Amino acid sequence: GAPALAVQGLTVSLQGKGRSANILNDVSFEVQQGETVCLVGESGCGKSMTALAIMRLLTDPLHVRAGRITLDGRNLLQLDERRMRGMRGNQVSMIFQEPMTALNPVYTVGEQIGESLRLHQGMTRSQARSRAAELLQSVGIPAAETRVDSYPHEMSGGMRQRVMIAMALACDPRVLIADEPTTALDVTVQAQIFDLLRAQQQARGTAIVMITHDMGAVAEVADRVVVMYGGHVVEHGCTAEVLAAPRHPYTQGLIACMPELDDAPGPHRPELPEIAGIVPSVWQRGAGCPFADRCPRAMPQCHADMPPQFAQGPTQRVACWLYKEAP
Ligand code: SF4
Ligand code: MG
Repeated sequence: GAPALAVQGLTVSLQGKGRSANILNDVSFEVQQGETVCLVGESGCGKSMTALAIMRLLTDPLHVRAGRITLDGRNLLQLDERRMRGMRGNQVSMIFQEPMTALNPVYTVGEQIGESLRLHQGMTRSQARSRAAELLQSVGIPAAETRVDSYPHEMSGGMRQRVMIAMALACDPRVLIADEPTTALDVTVQAQIFDLLRAQQQARGTAIVMITHDMGAVAEVADRVVVMYGGHVVEHGCTAEVLAAPRHPYTQGLIACMPELDDAPGPHRPELPEIAGIVPSVWQRGAGCPFADRCPRAMPQCHADMPPQFAQGPTQRVACWLYKEAP
């Protein structure tokens, strides 16, 4: 059937003083109902920007230049702000990376969860409070009946992240975007959060877009993976295939940096190897492949021309000149 979410040709630019540069270039991917797609890449590659564009939360100096974002047959980029408010938190919601900045310190968690129930479902204050308590219980918060009246600062980091999830799930969205939802949490809580999202997905068919820099998280949760670099999708495919046979040199580097699965997490984990070089600033990007300055296999053509996406294997698409068919 039609995907729950389709992003097509999304291009976002950064407008500076007398200059403008594309910070996202022709980003396309789809998420089916009940599926988890991971957007993966280093910080600055455009993952969070993509999420904010889907939520229509980009603000000046960032501007969507081109593309379609289709949810429920509607192009979100063409909705007026009033209609978009009716979608946000309702059809599509987002779990932000840092709960302390996303939660309002002066309202109880129950009031904050209840806000979208009152806005989108017309609940009264007391109906919203009791539904909020049920949601807190469903995300594994003990004594939810009491906790619903707590303030964010009275909770641990793991509890606050669960509150964020309860808030995002309150109106049973078709599409849930989770931006590094477990980065600040220890591995035990991280596993619990992944289980929670999986249970929600199985019960409700939620389509999940998970943003991460961690290939281990991709291996654990993703059906498909979208690898981003320098604002471009450089590789895209089924997780099993991409992890078993990564084609793009950047994806190969990310996977080489993954700790072995049986490595003990914690302070004694050895230093990970890193991909050499740094992500070029948006103003410095040239015409060629965005990875050319760091790529161990770069050829002269790579510095001159942006590679298109080449099909590889049953499901992969790779933006790299190494996969150009022989003429
Ligand atoms: Fe490396 Fe060239 Fe492929 Fe870019 S196009 S990843 S520089 S080989
Ligand atoms: Mg980010």
